[in-house]
Amino acid sequence: MCVVNRKKTVHLVSLGCAKNLVDSEVMLALLENAGYGVVEDPAYAQLLLINTCGFIQPAVEEAVDEILRLSEYKKKDPDKLLVVVGCLVQRYGRELPDELPEVDLFTGINGIAEIDVLIDGQIRRNTTSLYVSRPKYLMDSSLPRRLSTPFFQAYLKITEGCDNRCSYCLIPFIRGKLRSRSISDLIIEAKRFDQEGVRELNLIAQDLTAYGNDLSGSTDLVLLLRRILDETMIPWIRLLYLYPTTTSEDLLELMAAEPRIVPYLDIPFQHVSDQVLKRMNRRYNRKDLENLIRRIRHYLPDCALRTTLLVGFPGETADNFDELIDCLQRWRLDHVGVFQYQDEEECAAYELEDKINEEEKKERYNRAMAAQAAISADNAQKYLGKVESVLIEGVSAETELLLEGRTRFQATEIDGCVYIADGRANPGDIVPVRITETHTYDLVGNIIGQGVD
Ligand code: SF4
Repeated sequence: MCVVNRKKTVHLVSLGCAKNLVDSEVMLALLENAGYGVVEDPAYAQLLLINTCGFIQPAVEEAVDEILRLSEYKKKDPDKLLVVVGCLVQRYGRELPDELPEVDLFTGINGIAEIDVLIDGQIRRNTTSLYVSRPKYLMDSSLPRRLSTPFFQAYLKITEGCDNRCSYCLIPFIRGKLRSRSISDLIIEAKRFDQEGVRELNLIAQDLTAYGNDLSGSTDLVLLLRRILDETMIPWIRLLYLYPTTTSEDLLELMAAEPRIVPYLDIPFQHVSDQVLKRMNRRYNRKDLENLIRRIRHYLPDCALRTTLLVGFPGETADNFDELIDCLQRWRLDHVGVFQYQDEEECAAYELEDKINEEEKKERYNRAMAAQAAISADNAQKYLGKVESVLIEGVSAETELLLEGRTRFQATEIDGCVYIADGRANPGDIVPVRITETHTYDLVGNIIGQGVD
């Protein structure tokens, strides 16, 4: 039984992606096991912990702003400990202590699994510590996790790092080479989630399709999914971040045969123009993307397709951009995230000529978002009058009069939701909902027959 020492309280800020969130959940559980209590208000925390993101400048600025915000609490109470973890430290390591003298302890990702030990050691030290080395951290099921997501939903991080070398991306530099967890280790964690009542398991990685490439034998994503399907009862399994050309026929066949793998695929295309894709060092062209979309719609006619597009990449001509808009019009994808290219010094793309100015980048971003909003609104109409399974998340943040949930076609955090105007259900229930209204990103409906799946 862990005794919470009132003096040992921690306030954690978790920045960045879902993969970072999993790391934060591990650190919180390790600190709880070490007797820390988690507090919402940093004023009451003895330990101020920030898990940072750092792969593009806006993320770096956000991390530094958060560090400076929390250091104000330390100025008022110098006994507090300010600890910075993660990608920012992995990227800038040795520069940070001079830049951010308020911070007591900096550790890169290798410190995540021993954060409690590092902090315990730091308490007895009055000099700043920095732990950063070649990224080799890979979580496993022996590490505890304190889920920060609702009880019915969890992320399963199946790999660390990435072996792709997209010219605009720092992830391989920050998180290191691809490292896959073993299937048996992932099954231990998936079964634990099943026992804890998880209804939606989101598989995440930098590139899910690369799973097992670094492991011997025939370990791959399809084999992992078959084991999760066989050894758990989790009703919804969702796949986030797949690479286009390695989204295999086997995977699509399995998804077509197994409705527990929800008909939803998040596959970042980044662009559509052969010329731009080549400069991005993405290993496919537009024809490959068209074949992929055709294959997906052949095996999974009602699959929701999400992608990510990067506009304003060096050398992207007006024609290249018009080609992107034209493809959006023709492919009619369900969800599209559009991002503006960020010029990062350590990236190969930084050396490319023909940079696009900020104003033009913004204009292209707005045009792509507007084009997709019209398509999303039109696509949403296909659900009107239909009965869809909806995972209830709880009372809507908008108004207590509505419940909120998501269909199989809506991922958490990044897609719209379903507002439920009539019917009762509890968080975690999966219920049949008749869709009565559609909007650009959200749906509205009523629970029918009160039959709870
Ligand atoms: S696949 Fe993703 S994480 Fe890997 S290098 Fe490319 S953009 Fe970065």
